[in-house]
Amino acid sequence: MNNSIISFPLPANEPVKAYLAGSPERVALEKELERQSKMVVEIPIIIGGKEIRTGDMGEVTCPHDHKHVIARYHKVGKKEVEMAVDAAMKAWKEWSRTPWTTRAAIVMKMAELLATKYRPIMNAATMLGQSKNFYQAEIDSACETIDFFRYNVHYASKIYAMQPKDGAGQLNHTEYRPLEGFVLAVTPFNFTSIASNLCMTPVLMGNVALWKPSTTALLSNYYLMQLYKEAGLPDGVVNFLPGSGALIGEVATASRHFAGIHFTGSTATFNSLWNQAAKGLGKYVSYPRIVGETGGKDFIFVHPSADPKAVATAAFCGAYEFQGQKCSAASRMYIPKSLWAGVLEDMKAMAAEVKMGDVTDPSNFINAVIDEASFNKCKSYIEYAREAKDADVVMGGTCNNSKGWFVEPTVIETANPHFKSMEEEIFGPVLTVYPYDDEQWEETANLCNETSPYGLTGAVFGRDRMAVEKITEILSYAAGNFYINDKPTGAVVGMQPFGGARASGTNDKAGGEFNLIRWIIPRVIKETLVSPTDYRYTYMK
Ligand code: NAD
Repeated sequence: MNNSIISFPLPANEPVKAYLAGSPERVALEKELERQSKMVVEIPIIIGGKEIRTGDMGEVTCPHDHKHVIARYHKVGKKEVEMAVDAAMKAWKEWSRTPWTTRAAIVMKMAELLATKYRPIMNAATMLGQSKNFYQAEIDSACETIDFFRYNVHYASKIYAMQPKDGAGQLNHTEYRPLEGFVLAVTPFNFTSIASNLCMTPVLMGNVALWKPSTTALLSNYYLMQLYKEAGLPDGVVNFLPGSGALIGEVATASRHFAGIHFTGSTATFNSLWNQAAKGLGKYVSYPRIVGETGGKDFIFVHPSADPKAVATAAFCGAYEFQGQKCSAASRMYIPKSLWAGVLEDMKAMAAEVKMGDVTDPSNFINAVIDEASFNKCKSYIEYAREAKDADVVMGGTCNNSKGWFVEPTVIETANPHFKSMEEEIFGPVLTVYPYDDEQWEETANLCNETSPYGLTGAVFGRDRMAVEKITEILSYAAGNFYINDKPTGAVVGMQPFGGARASGTNDKAGGEFNLIRWIIPRVIKETLVSPTDYRYTYMK
């Protein structure tokens, strides 16, 4: 019996490797890219630690080379989802009672394995399957995933240490029990780290999970399952269910053991899952915890006092890194008319410099959008703007699907602050810009606040600090992550816990205590040291 109090201090963030030509990390990654490029991985369903093959198959292809099949996967049917519920509940009996320090040790081992042996494997799979370049893969599938593991262990230790005070003759303590049931983790394609975190946060707190990975991120997500196993995660704690989200959501929420959803993805999908869960109320053992981070229409608001060079760089990187497929990507910009021509010129100069293409060529800054549906969506918004009377495509706009799903970094300029692409999420490399009369900055900040249903990220640029203060105040509910003189993307675990409200989610801040708290149900225990034996108040005696 281990009765020591182990300390898990605040970790440092995992350093981002540089991948310079000839460096050990670059050599290892290039070797792994070559190995994975030559393979077609067969991805099974994993339930209770057992691999299951239904023969109902789907394909995973490289977005930047859509004829290149990198994996084939088996899809779950209703029967497999029901089996997963049983396997999860069986694993719950032991895992929910496993000492938390043992759970923490397993999660810390995941971090170490990923920092070493699995680093090139996960980065290569993320590059090939999700079309991220060397740097984007390193910060996502290596560093951020590792940070989530290590920081969550530290935050958990702080939560478990939160205890009520004792009174005279009594001892009080809070037990932080995991939820009484399983958590359904439904994960997006765009971040391997999010896919990992949505399962592993509840799991660290003693829960078990049914994991519905995104079909377009299956390769990296399957390697995550191998990493978990190697780190010592018991069978059945995470059950891996490739297949139809609608089916998995329906079967999972029909179970009385359904205890929560941990979701990241689009607002529409989250709303439908929440509605399904609401229909099951009365049937569940407890009220389910519904946690979701969803869409965004993230903004850059530029005050006339802003540094135009800084604005151009932030707009370019914020809108086009990872092809704009970050929930935080800048997708609308409000800029004073006096600054716009210069900023556009600078952005065009950057666009002329960057190369677009295959992820294995490190000179490419831009790679492909995730799939055909995303390509068509970007294209339709660009065509809509081309034909609209109140908008123009002033930069980029070319879409080429001959080899991969390539969309050029694009700027739509509009005179209509309610133009379609100022309000709707596109999730691609398309930035819509509304130039405004300089003296109208305060009214325009109010317009920015009221334009979109979302509230995820936003940035303000300005050298007039008092004006920046005013804008920050006007936009106080417009973003859960707000940036001053920086792009609205690039949140780092431990530094900027991430999430938004309004139509952008429940704002439980991934990578922080707030999120971990959603996966526990406390029990407070009072122990009276000498129990009273007389019912009378003192003055009655
Ligand atoms: P998506 O909603 O299409 O898919 C997310 C997951 O839900 C996938 O696993 C998908 O298979 C599954 N799914 C789809 N339909 C379902 C249904 N009817 N029932 C149950 N599950 C279903 O989102 P995506 O394209 O993978 O990701 C992009 C979206 O995610 C964008 O809207 C982006 O803003 C959002 N996102 C938000 C954050 C954040 O922190 N707020 C982070 C990353 C991505």
